[in-house]
Amino acid sequence: MIVLGIDTSCDDTSIAVYDSSKNTVLSNIVSSQHQFHLPFGGVVPEIAARKHAENIDIVFEEALKVAGIKVKDIELITVTRAPGLLPALLVGLTFGKGIAYCLNIPFKGVHHIEAHVFSPFIGSTPPEVFLALVVSGGHTLLILVEGLGKYRVIGKTLDDAVGEAYDKVAKMLGLGYPGGPIIDRIFKSYSGEYLELPKPKVPGFNYSFSGLKTAVRRLVEKGYPAEQIAASFQKTAIEYLVGKLKKALKEFNVKDIAVSGGVSANSLLREKLLELQEEGYRVHLPKMEYTSDNGAMVAYVGFKRFLLEGEDPLTLNAVARLGL
Ligand code: ATP
Ligand code: FE
Repeated sequence: MIVLGIDTSCDDTSIAVYDSSKNTVLSNIVSSQHQFHLPFGGVVPEIAARKHAENIDIVFEEALKVAGIKVKDIELITVTRAPGLLPALLVGLTFGKGIAYCLNIPFKGVHHIEAHVFSPFIGSTPPEVFLALVVSGGHTLLILVEGLGKYRVIGKTLDDAVGEAYDKVAKMLGLGYPGGPIIDRIFKSYSGEYLELPKPKVPGFNYSFSGLKTAVRRLVEKGYPAEQIAASFQKTAIEYLVGKLKKALKEFNVKDIAVSGGVSANSLLREKLLELQEEGYRVHLPKMEYTSDNGAMVAYVGFKRFLLEGEDPLTLNAVARLGL
């Protein structure tokens, strides 16, 4: 089946073409709006929606061109319907429904976090059981996955998501937006000493990042150099993430780990995960282009869901907040 995958959940307009019979992504176009949100230090929902509306036709044409297909070749439409910024989600959803209606082909709504969870397996096949760590701009989740739709959330952040903490710390340090890649770059070239930052003590496999953010604010007020604070923040945040992940792996006796979401692009996190691999775990990471939001993961999961439960009605709505 030729599957179109659309994601407009946040500040990237992304459309991909996926060929399910070959388990291959034919194109994956992402148009980033970062520059328009830069002055605000975060994503403004109304601006995001307007930019999606301006760009979506262009991204669609480009996705078809790169894939080498015509509109009439599309056989299934998959679109992120939740969670995300409501005005932004609506642009992609309405666009997708329009194509499905015109071509009289099936339409499937996709859960954005489920798409992230399976993004390491685009082009391959997921193991039957794995532990998923989703680290994105809005989520920090540890999920025991026992197949499509069979999820046990064993840990989550009690306040900020790790990506959000990255973005807020970068903003405090005046480094720009989005903060993750900038702080990661600073970390890689930093060779000085690290500052002591607290690792929040919360029960079980849950996380908390707000204390870390407050600790960073104090260091900023005390006048420590931005590079030193940024590098120390990354060291603490990533060690904290991996520490809990290790505990969960032991507790649930799982050998396969799938890490996804924007923060899975992080160099230190990838380095620490390689160490786990040397300890005998199988670590599954998305290709760099599938770490942050993309249409390919939507098409990949949307197709799986379509096989499992069929199409959705065109009355399906966008939802800003929705659990897995
Ligand atoms: P959600 O998926 O929860 O709805 P989102 O779609 O906005 O949120 P993603 O696009 O998956 O989130 O990830 C974006 C986040 O990833 C941003 O917070 C960004 O700072 C962070 N990020 C990107 N690259 C890196 C990196 N190299 N290191 C750390 N964080 C990073
Ligand atoms: Fe995302």
